[in-house]
Amino acid sequence: MSEAGTFRKIIDSPLWLQILVALGLAAIVGLVVDVDTTILGASVYGILNYFGTLFVNALKMIVVPLVVATIIVGVANMAKQEAFGRVGGKTVGLYIATGLISVVTGLIFVNLVSPGHTESAQLLVDSVSVSSAQATVLEKVEGRSSMDIFEILLRAVPANILQAALEVQLLALIFVGVVFGFFMSRLQGSAGDTLRVFWDGVHDVMIMITMWIMRFAPIGVFALVGKVLIQSGWEAFQPLVWFFLTVFLALAVHFFVWLPLLLKYAGGIRPYAYYGKVLRAQLTAFSTASSSATLPVTLDSAEKAGISRKVTSFVLPLGATVNMDGTALYECVVVIFIAQLYAYTAGVDFTIGQQLIVVFLALVTSIGVAGVPAASLVAIALILPAVGLPVEWIGIVLVVDRLLDMCRTSVNVTSDLTISALIASSEKEELEDLRAA
Ligand code: ASP
Repeated sequence: MSEAGTFRKIIDSPLWLQILVALGLAAIVGLVVDVDTTILGASVYGILNYFGTLFVNALKMIVVPLVVATIIVGVANMAKQEAFGRVGGKTVGLYIATGLISVVTGLIFVNLVSPGHTESAQLLVDSVSVSSAQATVLEKVEGRSSMDIFEILLRAVPANILQAALEVQLLALIFVGVVFGFFMSRLQGSAGDTLRVFWDGVHDVMIMITMWIMRFAPIGVFALVGKVLIQSGWEAFQPLVWFFLTVFLALAVHFFVWLPLLLKYAGGIRPYAYYGKVLRAQLTAFSTASSSATLPVTLDSAEKAGISRKVTSFVLPLGATVNMDGTALYECVVVIFIAQLYAYTAGVDFTIGQQLIVVFLALVTSIGVAGVPAASLVAIALILPAVGLPVEWIGIVLVVDRLLDMCRTSVNVTSDLTISALIASSEKEELEDLRAA
């Protein structure tokens, strides 16, 4: 076959396959390349960083218009149908239920595996002399208190819409979109019609741009994952292996067991058939570690799987900021892990009561966590002092944070997708391809 033919064949193969191959190649690059490796005089790490940033920038570029248009269109459609209150109530109920299941799974795993009761405890505790990366995180989290949770909710009503858009404050934009969409649906006459057609158009164009950006996903994924593996290297894991495995296993149970069971028994949907259809979104979440940047892909793949725009446009953008099962689980495991290490020096372990407080705080703060990489760390920095643990110890988990971020973001996005399928099913949407026989 000619080279052009081979190239055509690669381009025409399914996107998910291209992304999986890109992941495999990135893993190989992570093994053979280090930060100083150069190719023709250019740093490999630098090149990957460049293309990874380009891809994430492209996704971020459309987030604000996409979220605003999607929410406005979704709410306007729903408000028209009198289903608003019902769907809203069910959605929030499911956000809370899946979040709770997830944190409790994390709690059970961290108690069973007990990664902080280890001989390397002293080693880990000693390692928190401040490195430059840690210093940046500490700078970000310094002076925070648990009162910030209320502040986060306060900011959901922006004093200045333009500023909210400039700073990509998604909760605020969602609030504005909900209010605008609701009143737009009440607007009579040609002005109302024109507005509705306009926002529908904006939304469609944004989805088209998303699909175009996704053509570059294999390159983006290769660059982003390769870069992370070169940077953190596999050695970084050794002292943290058990911690890593605890988070990983707990996330896997939520991803492969609880969410599929919900889909199957609460929604009558074949879980893995659905996962197959939304794999692109799960993989994009994995490589970008950002629910917000993934949102365009999440919306697109849910609609392709047959879920109506009425449901996706409400459940998914809201879910991308407030429904974070993986994040809540991670926060819980990190805090209990640090408490276990602390017990090594102080000699007292957390009581069940204290652990339940952590569960509660993890759930509540995960609502305020932004859908961007490493956002959990800020929430963890709120919880640690609130339960009497040293905030600097957050530095212990930093080396493995990024890889776990990729995993928990996949779980966050999958939970949003699961809930949108459950809502669609309960609203009697057809979803023929996904129904259990
Ligand atoms: N990166 C996560 C997300 O975007 C948030 C976090 O847990 O840090 O969903």
